[in-house]
Amino acid sequence: MTELDETIQTGFISAINGTLIEIKGLERFVKLHELIKISNHNILGEVIQIYSNHVVAQCYENTNNLRLNESVISLQEPLSMELAPGLLSNIFDGIQRPLKEIYEGFGQSGFLKRGIEVPSLSRTRKWHFKPQKKIGDELFPGDVIGEVQETTLISHKIMIPHKISGKIVSIVKEGDYTISDEIYVIKTKDKEESMKMLQKWPVTDSRPFKARLKPKRPLLTGLRVIDLLFPIAKGGTVAVPGGFGTGKTVIQQSIAKWCNADIIVFIGCGERGNEIADVLKEFGTLIDPQSGKPLLERIVLIANTSNMPVSAREASIFSGVTIAEYYRDMGYDVAVLADSTSRWAESLREISGLLEEMPAEEGYPAYLPTKLSKFYERAGAVKLIGLTGVGEEKIGSISIIGSVSPPSGDFSEPVTSTSKRFVQAFWALDANLAYSKHYPAINWFDSYSNYPEYLADWWSKKDINWPEIDYNWYQCRSEVNEILSKENELLNIIQLIGEENLPEIKKLDIFIGKMIRESFLIQNAFDKIDAFTNAEKLLSQIKLILLLHNESKDLIQQGFIIDDIKSLAVIDEIMRLSLSIPNQEFLKILNIKNQLIREIESLKLISRVRRKT
Ligand code: ADP
Repeated sequence: MTELDETIQTGFISAINGTLIEIKGLERFVKLHELIKISNHNILGEVIQIYSNHVVAQCYENTNNLRLNESVISLQEPLSMELAPGLLSNIFDGIQRPLKEIYEGFGQSGFLKRGIEVPSLSRTRKWHFKPQKKIGDELFPGDVIGEVQETTLISHKIMIPHKISGKIVSIVKEGDYTISDEIYVIKTKDKEESMKMLQKWPVTDSRPFKARLKPKRPLLTGLRVIDLLFPIAKGGTVAVPGGFGTGKTVIQQSIAKWCNADIIVFIGCGERGNEIADVLKEFGTLIDPQSGKPLLERIVLIANTSNMPVSAREASIFSGVTIAEYYRDMGYDVAVLADSTSRWAESLREISGLLEEMPAEEGYPAYLPTKLSKFYERAGAVKLIGLTGVGEEKIGSISIIGSVSPPSGDFSEPVTSTSKRFVQAFWALDANLAYSKHYPAINWFDSYSNYPEYLADWWSKKDINWPEIDYNWYQCRSEVNEILSKENELLNIIQLIGEENLPEIKKLDIFIGKMIRESFLIQNAFDKIDAFTNAEKLLSQIKLILLLHNESKDLIQQGFIIDDIKSLAVIDEIMRLSLSIPNQEFLKILNIKNQLIREIESLKLISRVRRKT
């Protein structure tokens, strides 16, 4: 983990309590959150309490067979992520041990052998480095010095680490290097420093940036209910609470697959050890729809198995977000998907219990809100420090989508209600919708998003201008919301009086509400055409339904009845459109719109003729 020097201090174990150990002899040398190592067993831990005569550390692995008086050394650094080429397509645990290598190398079936020491990133693999700077160039923190094509999809920018600036004294030629080879030497104010591709960053500190930007670009998910009604911006935050089977995992995976972020950091909390292999296999088979390459080429996976000690699980979401910040700093849009934050919060609860801290609501520690806010506040669209290889400004973003699994689907429980305070969008998954096979089971009355005002401009540039209906994206949202709430009220009323007793215009609201739900909000994640809807298809599809609504209102005012409208042949076309028209053929929706206009005109014509005769 670290290169030790002679001044490293040694202490000894004086008590063992589950994964917590008390250490004597280090109290004057360690700081809170620094790492310690139990030398004989290679077990890492983190200092969480310091007293006048002992220190308490939380071990990242189980403490079976440890003995009193075994020696413990201080590593004099906090838990940090190794940052360099090799992160993408990789799968790590919460303390960045590379699980693929560990499983392959040690043939374990779902259980990590304790004390295994494998570097997080390979020290022997060579990467093709292309310098973009030359001797004499003056560089500042965050500046890009060169690049490595990390996967066929992503170019990894090698940046000057924070707090370092100066002139380049030497730089290697284009060629193949390991992450620990010297690639340049920089002359800072007081010395020459040898630099390599590898950097480290402590997981609990957010990486600096110049300024926060308004979240004006959407993180398109391809899910119609989200992109129209509850959108998220690049740099945004969202919590996705839902009971078992409501579709949290399917939503996270669809977003990983389809969203328009450059990089995905997927943090899986709470899977069983042997499920890691499944996760790996599953992600390994997914193809990036835009490029046709394996999706793994733009994914970093962090897996937290439930057989790992709680402390490693607790670290995981911060480890994930630190890696995300590193890619953001290169100028990428990164999406962090955490599934599920409840499992993570349970690990906080366990540790707090061991420490005998005073519990707050439902046994969670009083600092649960602080921890959750620290996680979500690392999202944002930002102007970055440093310049690109060709001297331009960089912007990047981190969006965080955290699923929550409230026990028995109760959203008033602490993790859901606390997350709600720190996120700007909330996709409430509804067990009743899931039960009736309405997927994605996002309840349109309990969910919300604070981003639409910011995103309206972006959407107006995408608009498909149809002369018959002049709603923009923002107005489409309002109309759909209004129709759905009217439908809901009417559904309550018809339980009392029956639908046949409603006026025709109200029957129309019910009909269009149902059409919006069944043909627009419901989306099959497993259908090739339906799985993802792009902006143009989404706008055409919703405008078509709203045009039908407007035209039908006219027809009813002219004396037509709802059955006349239901009998139009075009209705069937509209209902099937999600599954029948692929995104790239969205212009075909124009034909359906023209068909709609024609059918309505001929309905009017027939009635005029009938009235005359
Ligand atoms: P959770 O993670 O909340 O327990 P899952 O994401 O595993 O739930 O979803 C449970 C099941 O619901 C899935 O196996 C799938 O059959 C169905 N499902 C969920 N979302 C969709 C969707 N968008 N389209 C089709 N089926 C879905």
